[in-house]
Amino acid sequence: MSIKMPEPDQAVLARRDAIVAALRAIVPGEGVIDSERELTPYESDGLTAYRQPPMVVVLPETTQQVAEILRYCHREGVKVVPRGSGTSLSGGALPLADAVLLGMGKFNRVIEIDYDDRLVVVQPGVTNLAITRAVEGEGFYYAPDPSSQIACSIGGNVAENSGGVHCLKYGLTTNNVLGVELVTIEGEVLRFGGKALDGAGMDLLGVIVGSEGLLGVVTEVTVRILPKPETARALLIGFPAVEAAGQCVADTIAAGIIPAGMEMMDRPAIHAAEAFVKVGYPLNVEALLIVELDGPAAECDHLIDEVAAIAQRNGATTLQISSDEDERLAFWAGRKAAFPAVGRLAPDYYCMDGTIPRRRLPEVLQRMEALSQQYGLGVANVFHAGDGNLHPLILYDANQPGQLDKAEAFGNDILRLCVEVGGVLTGEHGVGVEKRDLMPEMFDEIDLKQQQRVKCAFDPASLLNPGKVFPTLHRCAELGRTHVHHGQLSFPDIPRF
Ligand SMILES: Cc1cc2nc3c(=O)[nH]c(=O)nc-3n(C[C@H](O)[C@H](O)[C@H](O)COP(=O)(O)OP(=O)(O)OC[C@H]3O[C@@H](n4cnc5c(N)ncnc54)[C@H](O)[C@@H]3O)c2cc1C
Repeated sequence: MSIKMPEPDQAVLARRDAIVAALRAIVPGEGVIDSERELTPYESDGLTAYRQPPMVVVLPETTQQVAEILRYCHREGVKVVPRGSGTSLSGGALPLADAVLLGMGKFNRVIEIDYDDRLVVVQPGVTNLAITRAVEGEGFYYAPDPSSQIACSIGGNVAENSGGVHCLKYGLTTNNVLGVELVTIEGEVLRFGGKALDGAGMDLLGVIVGSEGLLGVVTEVTVRILPKPETARALLIGFPAVEAAGQCVADTIAAGIIPAGMEMMDRPAIHAAEAFVKVGYPLNVEALLIVELDGPAAECDHLIDEVAAIAQRNGATTLQISSDEDERLAFWAGRKAAFPAVGRLAPDYYCMDGTIPRRRLPEVLQRMEALSQQYGLGVANVFHAGDGNLHPLILYDANQPGQLDKAEAFGNDILRLCVEVGGVLTGEHGVGVEKRDLMPEMFDEIDLKQQQRVKCAFDPASLLNPGKVFPTLHRCAELGRTHVHHGQLSFPDIPRF
C-alpha cells in the first residue's frame, strides 16, 4: 500500500472490548461483528489493492441506533467509517484498524412511492437498481445508472455523487436527489431538502451529496423518478481514428443534441469486449461510439438521422442503427461487459476516473499512450465520452514485484494530465484514499482549508472517515484564524500523511 493512512490510536485499540460491548448494548443480536474471520469480508471495498480489517463492524437497523452509535463514538473519541455496499473504486469505504465500520446494509426498505409527485423515499442501503425495479411496473425509473447499480447502495451513490451512462442527459446523483436525512457524529438527526423542489434556507443538500461519508451518515434518501421514455434507439459508430470519434462527440453536443448516453471505447477495449460477449462489434476500427437517443419516436428518428450525418462528416467507417430493443441492448452489452472483459487481458487492472474537456480527448489519449510505453503497462479506455469522463483501465500483474506501484504512478500521471488540460481529478468515483494525495494538483492550500472548514462544521474532532479526501489532517482549531510566526509550522504534532 503506497498511500499512508493515519496511525491507529493505541489507546482506542486497548479499549476494544469495552467498545464492542457498548455497541452490542445499542445493537443487540447479530448486529455487531468482532471475530477476525467475520471481519475479513469488510477489509476492502472496490479498490481491492488496499486492505485493512476494521476494529469492529456494526450493522444498525434504525436511525435511532445510528444516532446512538455515533453519539457513543463521539463521546469516546472513536473513529467511524460509514459503508454502503462496499463497491467504491476510490477506497472511500476502506476501514481503519482503530475505527468502527458502520454498515448500512440493513437499511434496505423502500419507504414511500409517490407517482403524483414523481418521487421515492428509500433507506440508504437500497440498491440503485432496486429503486427502478420498485417503480418500473408503473412505467417509471431512477435515471442515474452506475454500472455497479445491481450492487451499489443509494446511500453510497449520494456519498460519491455517482454517475452512469444516462447522466449526460439526466444529471448525476446530485441532480436527482431531493432530500436526505443525515445523522451527525454528535448523534443529531438533520434533514436537508425534502419533497418540494425548492427548500428553505441555505442549499446544504449540495454539500452532503458527494461528501464521501465525511460529514454524517445518511439514513434516508428522497429521489426523483422519471417516466420511462417512449422510445430509445442507439447508433453503433466505428471510426478509423480516436480523433475523429472525439470530434463527432464534440460536434453532436455543439449541434444542441444531448444524447441519453454517449460512450466511447478504444481498440483494446473493443477487442476485449467483443471476445467476451460476441455482439458483433467491428474489429477494424480504432474507436467505437455508442450513442443513444430517447424520447418520442418522431424526435428519436430525427435525432438519429442528425447524429448519423455528423458521424459521416467525421469519417465514420461503420454505422449501425438499432432496429429493435434486442439490437439496442446488444450494442450496450459489450460496453457494459467492458470492465470484466478487460479483466481477461491481464491478471489485474486499475480503473482510473478523471474528467477532461471533450475537445482535449485526442491529445489526452495520445499522451496516455506515451505514458503506457514509458511505464511498460497496457491501458484500455472506456469513456463516458459525452461528459468527458475517462475510465482508463491500467493492466498489471500484482504478483510481479513493483507492478502495483508502477500502475499507481501511471494512474497518478493520468490524473495529473486531466487537471493539466483543464479537467478534474474525479468523474464519479470520488476522491477517497485513491486520489487524496493528488488533491493539491487541483486545489491550492486556501481551497483545501476552506473545504476542511466545512468538514469541521459537521465533525470538529475529525472522527468520520478520517484519512480520506484531505491530503493533510488539519485539526479544526488550526483552521481558525491563526498567526504563523516567522514561518514556523503551527501544530507540529499533527500527523501529515
Ligand atoms: C464494477 C464497478 C462498476 C462501477 N461503475 C460505476 C459507475 O458507472 N459510476 C459510478 O459513479 N461509480 C461506479 N462504481 C463505483 C461505486 O459503485 C460507486 O461509487 C457507488 O456509489 C458506491 O456505493 P456503495 O454503496 O458501494 O458505497 P461504499 O463503497 O460502501 O461507500 C462509498 C463511500 O460512501 C460512503 N457511504 C456509504 N454509505 C453511506 C451512508 N449511508 N452515509 C454516509 N456515507 C456513506 C462511504 O463512507 C464511502 O466513502 C463502480 C464500482 C464497481 C465495482
